Amino acid sequence: MALILKERPIKNNQSYVKNAQIEDERYRRFQERGPLGAILHSIGTPQPLAEPIAAYFDDPSVEASVHMVLQPDGLCLQLAPENYRLWHVGGQANETHLGIEMTEPAAIRYDSSRGFTPIILDRQAALSHIRSCYDRGVELFAYLCQKYGWDPLQDGVILSHREAFTRGLGSNHGDPEHLWQALETGYTMDGFRKAVAQAMKSPLVEDGENEDQEGKEMRYETLGDVRKDPNGKYYLPTLEFLLQKGYLQGRGGKGDDLILDLSEDALRILVTLHRAGAYDK
Ligand SMILES: [Zn+2]
Repeated sequence: MALILKERPIKNNQSYVKNAQIEDERYRRFQERGPLGAILHSIGTPQPLAEPIAAYFDDPSVEASVHMVLQPDGLCLQLAPENYRLWHVGGQANETHLGIEMTEPAAIRYDSSRGFTPIILDRQAALSHIRSCYDRGVELFAYLCQKYGWDPLQDGVILSHREAFTRGLGSNHGDPEHLWQALETGYTMDGFRKAVAQAMKSPLVEDGENEDQEGKEMRYETLGDVRKDPNGKYYLPTLEFLLQKGYLQGRGGKGDDLILDLSEDALRILVTLHRAGAYDK
């Protein structure tokens, strides 16, 4: 299983609109500076899929929002650009941190009389969901730490919503530890941060040091770069297929200027999967 980032903008959400219009200085500041860390959330409702949560946020009557929603199979919907100031943690951390929401198992139920503690309908099913979300969450945070040069072990860079609350930076929520504790997973935020630091050392994650050791790795910045390269002809049919299907969306730009930022190794894997029929459905 791997992480699949997919853009799913919530353009009707109030916070999204305020960012698009740069309503005041707070939005401008966040957009110019970008995020300084990320908050790990768990949605607090038995909804295993990311899309219904995105659809809930994509509504003009809703101001609360998050940057990403992660489901256990690794699909991660990106609801807004990472430099948008969103309202996810109900406090000062909104001015500095991304909000990353994990979905929750269908095998639990909340009852207002029990506060943050869910009723567990099927322990094994719930555990399986939570473990997968945790593992994919580690990968996602490792990716973000690499992208922004964050140290996951530095104080305050990665926090849970509950930790943000205890530090006076967020509203009174218990996520995601409430769920980890209810299912006796043994997971903690300290463990999560260490796992992120460990994941950043893994060769699966792009690593500048490894590139130096192995010599210069071929990277393609744009679609045009692939087209210009003599080896590109092996990769183009797969790339065009993935782009046309929307499985691959790039990071901005159009036509040959579409930003891919892919290594040749990554392209080889995509082509192999294509030939193996992995994208047929
Ligand atoms: Zn939360």
